[in-house]
Amino acid sequence: MRILVLGGDGYLGWPTALHLSDCGHEVAVADNFARRSYDHEMGVQSLAPIESLQTRVAAWREVSGKDIQAYYGDLVDGEFTVDMIRDFRPDTIVHFAEQRAAPYSMIDRKHAVYTQQNNVVGNLNVLFAIEEVDPEIHLVKLGTMGEYGTPNIDIEEGWIDVEHKGRTDRMLFPKKPGSFYHLSKVHDSHNIEFACRIWGLRATDLNQGVVYGQETPQTVRDPRLATRFDYDAIFGTVLNRFVIQAVLGHPLTVYGSGSQTRGVIDIRDTVECIRLAAENPAEAGEFRVFNQMTESFSVEEIAKVVANGYEGSVDVEYLTNPRVEQAEHYYNVVHTGLVELGLDPHLLSNTLIHSLFRVAEQHKHRVDTAAMRPTVQWREASSPMRGLN
Ligand code: NAD
Repeated sequence: MRILVLGGDGYLGWPTALHLSDCGHEVAVADNFARRSYDHEMGVQSLAPIESLQTRVAAWREVSGKDIQAYYGDLVDGEFTVDMIRDFRPDTIVHFAEQRAAPYSMIDRKHAVYTQQNNVVGNLNVLFAIEEVDPEIHLVKLGTMGEYGTPNIDIEEGWIDVEHKGRTDRMLFPKKPGSFYHLSKVHDSHNIEFACRIWGLRATDLNQGVVYGQETPQTVRDPRLATRFDYDAIFGTVLNRFVIQAVLGHPLTVYGSGSQTRGVIDIRDTVECIRLAAENPAEAGEFRVFNQMTESFSVEEIAKVVANGYEGSVDVEYLTNPRVEQAEHYYNVVHTGLVELGLDPHLLSNTLIHSLFRVAEQHKHRVDTAAMRPTVQWREASSPMRGLN
């Protein structure tokens, strides 16, 4: 299969491209390096050093003998997007290429507008390009579990049968997102469902949980193939951040009571889910949704897993929650679709935690501890940016 990975220079896009290439697919990646520029803007960096995309691609050719074609450009540029898709002629497009940090989208007006413009317009350009070049192309789009929020009913895989005043219909599952970033994903989902319904496109929306881990069987084949490992309060996902705090001997910073519960997934399962979705495409006209998570944990439980897995002593510090989210809530998510396609999940085990401790230990001299304190306040429309006016 020919697979184009949009956002292929990012935390998940790069290991996914390697996994798909390793499985024998013809892979190309595209990126505008926006993620690397957020690092400069925020004054932070990935804990594990990462190479340029050019070096990564050359290293993969060296270790595997396989080529990954690379496109440099911005999906917000509709001409670039359509030309690239016409040039590569993929069977499947995997779309990771969005601004993905909720706190970044909540800094102020400028960052909220950027996030929604980048994500919603980029995704629309991809939909129009597929329709123009070849409506048979299967779009595999990364959404997030955060689109649903925490409703007091079971969360289904994208659709729900509703009975209202004696009549029934199958509707998109209601969404209650928690940031301008999560809202951009809801807007994307609606635009994709609409394109499937009116143009007959085929799409899979993957509502993914919080990803943890940094290594996959392909990235460990050469240090130049490493993917990002973010720990700062803007881009660091919770488990990765706790691991680094444990290694540094800092308290794990739990927001609020820590009873807020989220779906999570191991990075090795993320890349495998993408392969399964790509190799088993949605039908023409189908908007298929999977909840791409394997387990649920409260933030406090995640802190305990990290504390118990670490050899040294670990403290937990409870901070006033900078976000607006329900502390006590019901959380029961249906996530059987990908397992039915063949996913055999890696559940959160000490094995993975230990490999993360090792990576954190190796690079701990690169940590900027101040970057781990949350500065973005959901209750304020404008938060100061660290060290900048
Ligand atoms: P990332 O920021 O590391 O990667 C995204 C990549 O897309 C970056 O390399 C960035 O430069 C690129 N990009 C952004 N806007 C672009 C544009 N307009 N044109 C071209 N390239 C652009 O993020 P990630 O953690 O790898 O996440 C990938 C996707 O998965 C995102 O859509 C995110 O919302 C989703 N997701 C991630 C997580 C997680 O825990 N990391 C959880 C749920 C969903």
